[in-house]
Amino acid sequence: MSTLAIYPGSFDPVTLGHVDIVERSLGLFDEVIVLIAESSQKKGLFSISEKKEHLQDVFKHEKRVIIDVWPGLLMEYAGKKKANAIVRGLRAVSDFEYEFQMAAMNKRLRPSIDTIFMMTSEKYYFVSSHLVREIASLGGALTDIVPPVIEKRLKEKFKK
Ligand code: ADP
Repeated sequence: MSTLAIYPGSFDPVTLGHVDIVERSLGLFDEVIVLIAESSQKKGLFSISEKKEHLQDVFKHEKRVIIDVWPGLLMEYAGKKKANAIVRGLRAVSDFEYEFQMAAMNKRLRPSIDTIFMMTSEKYYFVSSHLVREIASLGGALTDIVPPVIEKRLKEKFKK
């Protein structure tokens, strides 16, 4: 039987930190669904359809990665797909509290599915979508921080 993990997030935009987590997850699971969580609270820089297109582009050579969008409860989606685990990344201690709370709540909602955490690779520990948006808005270079296609899209977005 094949194994499936779901990697949910905002991916606004996808960074090399995210890509690293997906690639490492493929070493543990047969398939990984990168799930763009639609949040009503967060107004993104990129639209859901732009983010979907970005992720499809970044992972176009990896047949074991599927990109999807879900507006509802993550654990409902995970149950529907019969996922084996949820994958999340951890950078600093500051990520821990929120992630711990989310994982505990998700476990309560669906006890059969665990959340597993991967430590960031040391070369990406400082990379966040939030900082990427800020640097891009100020015209800074993002080589080796986001995939080349994302750097291009960011430049287009902030073109004056
Ligand atoms: P959210 O808005 O739900 O935090 P993100 O798109 O920012 O979603 O991130 C999705 C997941 O990827 C989170 O678990 C986050 O901690 C993790 N992540 C983001 N950037 C990195 C990175 N540079 N290294 C490791 N994990 C990361």
